[in-house]
Amino acid sequence: MVIQIASDTYKIKGYANCYLITKPIPIIIDTGKKDTVEYVKAQIEKIIPLKDIKIVILTHFHYDHCENVDIFPNAKFYAAAAEIEDYRKHKHKYFHRHKFPKAVHDILNKKVLPLPKKFPGIDVVPVPGHTRGCVVFVDKKRKLIYTGDTLFCIKIGRFDLPNSSPEEMKFSLEKIMKLIDKYNLELCPGHDEL
Ligand SMILES: [Zn+2]
Repeated sequence: MVIQIASDTYKIKGYANCYLITKPIPIIIDTGKKDTVEYVKAQIEKIIPLKDIKIVILTHFHYDHCENVDIFPNAKFYAAAAEIEDYRKHKHKYFHRHKFPKAVHDILNKKVLPLPKKFPGIDVVPVPGHTRGCVVFVDKKRKLIYTGDTLFCIKIGRFDLPNSSPEEMKFSLEKIMKLIDKYNLELCPGHDEL
């Protein structure tokens, strides 16, 4: 199901939610897990062809958030430098429980670039905790905050995983709550129900 959450912004509701911002540049936030790929493709294509997506930004590299990166042939991919480093240097320690399809692994391993501080209309805010390289994306104009697995509607994300940093989680959650308060942001979480 696609839900319009702003004039040019859509939520693709799924096991893990993906988000699509169509203007000024088509951007996808998180891509969902591979066993939902046909659903994710069909939902996005109701709004825009997959080939028109220019940028894919990832809150973190857990499989349910990044496993469909390979369906965007013309996109550039971005994630936090710390997340990229953990995947490339410590993949077996942090991600060994899940085997990514080869096309996905190749993108995560070679093509994903470190996030800049800003994209058009979107600020990137590091929130280490759920993983060391977690980020949230803040859209002050549309008053939306994309929180991935760090903060859900009424629950916080796990911080006991191999690549979590529990001591930083509290500070990251406080940072998010201050942003929500200051800019009156609506929460766009990575999952609706857990
Ligand atoms: Zn996660």
